[in-house]
Amino acid sequence: MLQHENLPDSSCSVERSFEILGGAWTFMVLREALFEDVVQFDNFQTNLGIARESLKRVLNRLVRNGVMDHRPLAPGGLRKGYFLTEQGRDLLPALVAALNWGQMWASEGEVPECLTHKNCGHPLEQAIVCSHCHTNVDPRDVSFTSRIRNRSKGREKFAKMRYVEQALLERQQPSSIARTMATIGDPWSFLIIRECFYGIRRFDAFQQRLSIASNILATRLKRMVAAGVLQTQPVVDQPHLFEYRLTEKGLALYAVPLTIIAWGDKWLTGANGPPLILTHKPCGHAFSAELRCHSCDMTVTLDDVEYQVLT
Ligand SMILES: [Zn+2]
Ligand SMILES: [Zn+2]
Repeated sequence: MLQHENLPDSSCSVERSFEILGGAWTFMVLREALFEDVVQFDNFQTNLGIARESLKRVLNRLVRNGVMDHRPLAPGGLRKGYFLTEQGRDLLPALVAALNWGQMWASEGEVPECLTHKNCGHPLEQAIVCSHCHTNVDPRDVSFTSRIRNRSKGREKFAKMRYVEQALLERQQPSSIARTMATIGDPWSFLIIRECFYGIRRFDAFQQRLSIASNILATRLKRMVAAGVLQTQPVVDQPHLFEYRLTEKGLALYAVPLTIIAWGDKWLTGANGPPLILTHKPCGHAFSAELRCHSCDMTVTLDDVEYQVLT
């Protein structure tokens, strides 16, 4: 598993970024904005089948945090739309990471959508790589040091964010992003997964580090075991105790937090620099997640991708 000098505090740019991105519905809204060029409230609402109040909350949070701009649809017009800012457009790698994981691990026999790299015509698969050596990310190859000392505030906000069922996220159409987000899209599940990547395995350790109520923790762990992301196994030398370990399917989720860390480092880091220093062990360089096409080895931006719904 990951090697570390100081175990990071539970606060890091992932957590701050996740306060902004906020959960499963946010990713679905971002999918509409990034891939379908949706800007109008009613179109987001119809395409997703999301409750108006929830949609309002998501869009307001994205506007408040500079991901979207709420401005007139036409110059001088009265009707307004929600437009992605440059910071918002830069969430593409996080969306692709979520999409790629859903395609690979939760496709249930049919892949609902396809992303193509326009420049070479190949599908964008396993497209999150080390920005230095361009190889795919294996969490076992990334070590980290934390510069965080203080515990973050605002964990209460997370407690209020609810788990959203996959069926609800896919109400209007099936989506790999929805499937990924049904697995890690609620903030608690996301934080638990992150703790797993830090090497945390025991129930009491999760509880202590996350200040999470034991019933919430138990439900989330059970759900992730059922989803095949975690597995339980007896603790060596203490066979009456068991611990939670990431499966291969769970390890593959790592690309999602890595893209969010890279985004947070770029857009949210203040004068103190990034809170978490990642090193890619195979190449020995500082690790930053990058979106790059496997087939032609080019970096990919939003203008270079074509999104197609297949079902
Ligand atoms: Zn590398
Ligand atoms: Zn390509």
